[in-house]
Amino acid sequence: MKTVVLDGFTLNPGDLSWDGLKAISDVTVYDRTAYDTSNLSLIIERVGDAEAVFTNKTPLPAQAIEAMPNLKYIGVLATGYNVVDVEAAKKRGIAVTNIPTYGTTAVSQMAIALLLELCHHVGAHSDAVRKGDWTTNADWCFWNYPLIELAGKNFGVIGFGRIGQLTAQIAQALGMKVLAYDSYQNKDLECETLQYVELDELLAESDVISLHCPLFESTQGIINKNSIAKMKPGVMIINTSRGPLIAEQDLADALNSGKVAGAAVDVVSSEPIKADNPLLTAKNCIITPHIAWAPKEARQRLLDIAINNLKSFISGNPVNVVNK
Ligand code: NAD
Repeated sequence: MKTVVLDGFTLNPGDLSWDGLKAISDVTVYDRTAYDTSNLSLIIERVGDAEAVFTNKTPLPAQAIEAMPNLKYIGVLATGYNVVDVEAAKKRGIAVTNIPTYGTTAVSQMAIALLLELCHHVGAHSDAVRKGDWTTNADWCFWNYPLIELAGKNFGVIGFGRIGQLTAQIAQALGMKVLAYDSYQNKDLECETLQYVELDELLAESDVISLHCPLFESTQGIINKNSIAKMKPGVMIINTSRGPLIAEQDLADALNSGKVAGAAVDVVSSEPIKADNPLLTAKNCIITPHIAWAPKEARQRLLDIAINNLKSFISGNPVNVVNK
């Protein structure tokens, strides 16, 4: 089967192997093709007469899918598959698969890393020491930011699914009390240090709010000036889910006014980040370049599942199909 990988570089910048995919198909791997729809002709040309295509963030809208004559299979190299017009694919009988779970542990670890960075500013303090600030300091220690202990504080989780729950477990290990908000509640998970609450209660009571819900119309901009107004002064906000969950100008305003003490985001509304993103100049805002998913262990897991998805499709027993 002729297979094209449209944007393989972020998954495998050279530390993994495509051999597993090559063993089951005739593969051409492109590092990157396009991250928007302004160059559909390049996407169509590269897929050519292939029967299978893999994409991570290269868009496959209806117009492109309709111009790919032999296409039978689209493998999305991610959990979210909004880059593909799945209905257009379905109309043409093309199966679309995704990778439902590969990065739960990696993303949870990153959410807590961001939280700990807001509490201790390890990176900034280490930079200050290298710069000589400790050498010339009058006292035997110094700190440039308020240092924060988390034990006893409330950790609000919006979207209490796989990643939300694992992140909450780590927060509990740090002595935090979890307030969970989800459209589906599993009351069996409740205990002394974890309870489900309504969104307004979570906003009002949390010292830290961590976003783990998917991006839907209903969750877009869930953090905005109205929801921020309901939060405690000095709240900290973590986003490792999707950028558009936050109305970024509203968060920047709240950071600059001090209502929100700190924010740490791994995702932003438009990626790569635009030079005029208001979070870039906001006070106490840590921004990382969408790396939560990217430890080698998680990417290897993703690649293994992607290969198994194609293998299962070829054998006539497709799995992880999102457009049945
Ligand atoms: P999941 O499906 O297990 O959990 C999502 C939870 O959100 C579910 O419990 C669902 O009921 C809940 N939910 C849905 N709509 C909601 C709403 N309107 N309000 C509140 N809760 C709602 O998914 P997961 O594996 O935990 O992943 C969560 C998100 O993390 C993904 O949607 C994705 O956007 C993001 N993610 C980010 C990275 C990264 O690299 N930064 C990597 C993987 C996943």
